[in-house]
Amino acid sequence: ARRNVLITGCSSGIGFALAVKMAKDEQKRFKVYATMRNLAKKEPLEEAAGDRLGKTLEIKQLDVCDEQSIKTCVNSIPDRRIDVLVSNAGMGLIGPIECQTIEEMKTVMDTNFFGLVRLLKEILPDMKRRKSGHIVIISSVMGIQGILFNDVYAASKFAVEGFCESLAIQALKFKLQLSLIEPGPVVTEFERKVFEDGMKMDLSAADEETAEMFTNIYLKNYKQIFQSLGQSAEDVAEHTVKIILADNPPFRHQTNTLYTPMTTLKYADPNGDLPIDIFYKMVFHHDKIFSASLNFIKLLRWRSRKSFDLGKPSQ
Ligand code: NAD
Repeated sequence: ARRNVLITGCSSGIGFALAVKMAKDEQKRFKVYATMRNLAKKEPLEEAAGDRLGKTLEIKQLDVCDEQSIKTCVNSIPDRRIDVLVSNAGMGLIGPIECQTIEEMKTVMDTNFFGLVRLLKEILPDMKRRKSGHIVIISSVMGIQGILFNDVYAASKFAVEGFCESLAIQALKFKLQLSLIEPGPVVTEFERKVFEDGMKMDLSAADEETAEMFTNIYLKNYKQIFQSLGQSAEDVAEHTVKIILADNPPFRHQTNTLYTPMTTLKYADPNGDLPIDIFYKMVFHHDKIFSASLNFIKLLRWRSRKSFDLGKPSQ
């Protein structure tokens, strides 16, 4: 039977790519409810869906920060049946915390963490009753490991991961599946918005050293990191579809093989110092090592295009 898939945040990036990919599935295995906060942004998705629009893809309004909009959307789906929920909507925030307001930070937590909680409060009871359903969450490698100047964003993704780890035990009892997709850097609107906000940031509340660190080290390397390590939204969508179609989907799935050595550091040292030391050295002490590792990564990337089946050219 065709599976109903609800995806949040489909006006751009990973959500957009995933909605199109699943709607165009040759075996027509999915009916996609592609949702977005602002329907004024639906045209590119309508265009990309082409003749699948109204057939295997429908566009609906859903704001993950608004409980009523979630309820209205779910109620409009036949029998409220959602077989696969893809919680994708999210936002980033970079910079020194002394230059961010608590309000800005709360918006990130409200979108990235409480957005998922609101969706599940509405959708989980139906899935439990039916004893079937797959909950797929677009988390991040920053859900496992913090990165300089991404303090609140990483915290929001850690919250998502802790919440899901707890819920996964209950889900097992109800025969539900839960999967966290953990991309590394992905070249999307997200990266552009976050970078532009960073460039515009008022750094007057930070001391000179911190402001300098953010502008001359972090922002300077930002684009380079995305260029050398970044995946495309389509790549991440491809990984996500494989997880959705798997017989025994894993609880965690990292999409970027070039990034896994970094996250492995976390598990290599129970004291937790190793990844912090390495990141510190990469950022502050060995600018040359940093560029050398980026070059090495570029080489790996070039090789991976030749050898990995999922690692086809991504940009
Ligand atoms: P994106 O900015 O293109 O997509 C995010 C989408 O979420 C946008 O369409 C945005 O409008 C939507 N959104 C924001 N707030 C919303 C709300 N309240 N209700 C409904 N929709 C809302 O960026 P993306 O890279 O495609 O991000 C998708 C997910 O991937 C996010 O959860 C992000 O944290 C995660 N992620 C991104 C990267 C990356 O480097 N781009 C890396 C790892 C994880």
